[in-house]
Amino acid sequence: MRLQCNGFALGLDSPEGDFSFLSHAHKDHSAGMGRQKKIIASEETLAIVGLEKSACAIPDGVNLKMLDAGHMLGSRQLVLEEDGRKTAYSGDISLKENVFGHKAEIPQCDRLIMEATYGSDPVYKFPGYEQTYEQISSFIRSNDSSNILLGCYELGKAQEMVRILNERCGIAPVVNESTEEICRVYGRFGVKLDRLVIGSEEAEEVMNRRFVAVVPMRHAKRYFARRLADAFGKKTLCAAITGWALTMRFDADAAFPLSDHADFHELREYIIQSGAKEVEFFCGDGRRLLESLRP
Ligand SMILES: [Zn+2]
Repeated sequence: MRLQCNGFALGLDSPEGDFSFLSHAHKDHSAGMGRQKKIIASEETLAIVGLEKSACAIPDGVNLKMLDAGHMLGSRQLVLEEDGRKTAYSGDISLKENVFGHKAEIPQCDRLIMEATYGSDPVYKFPGYEQTYEQISSFIRSNDSSNILLGCYELGKAQEMVRILNERCGIAPVVNESTEEICRVYGRFGVKLDRLVIGSEEAEEVMNRRFVAVVPMRHAKRYFARRLADAFGKKTLCAAITGWALTMRFDADAAFPLSDHADFHELREYIIQSGAKEVEFFCGDGRRLLESLRP
């Protein structure tokens, strides 16, 4: 998607344009961005995707600002003003303050281009973070004689899980190499995450006693947990950590609806508070959201 501003074409999470805005580092937003040599994004996002050299300043005459999106490290929204008219682009957002102290600011705008990942159905109403963090920690504590696999995506959610395990359970979880790479970038920006990298001596030692591992979703499955139980001679449980846990079944011992997206009701509130007269969705199905706002 592109916006025209002051004679420039601005790509929104797209490499097409005179310059581009990259909202955050997830692949569905950053794909192809290596082709763009002029990118406006937070320092953190550019570091995660390895495109620091493509950072560009806001061109003269373009009135653009970035707001926190609360979705993952470095995630931002964009507000562009031209001739007194404001357009906001949300990328992915979370309105609740997360374990790292971030949440989305709500832009004031005339036109809103936004995500609607969980905007298809009011059934998507997530419990507060505090409640979900507590449910996850209590699952870890009440199964303290078992090894545990917590499945989530590796960019953003895995780091959130590491922090929750550090703070709530006093546990440094085992992580794989690709999660470790992202944890290192978080560390460069001052986010402390205690973890053990699989294959290291410390991880081997812990894995011979009892361990909690933060793993990609594909490994938080019962068949994989059974293989680990055989290999380590210890009962192994697995849990899926995703917002889709509200409506989907997983081949796991537990599922927790921890999401770094806004739910249906938060998206609705976001639209109302933005004051936008025009609303467009770039992902997800927002028809029921708009219906719910009709007088
Ligand atoms: Zn995202």
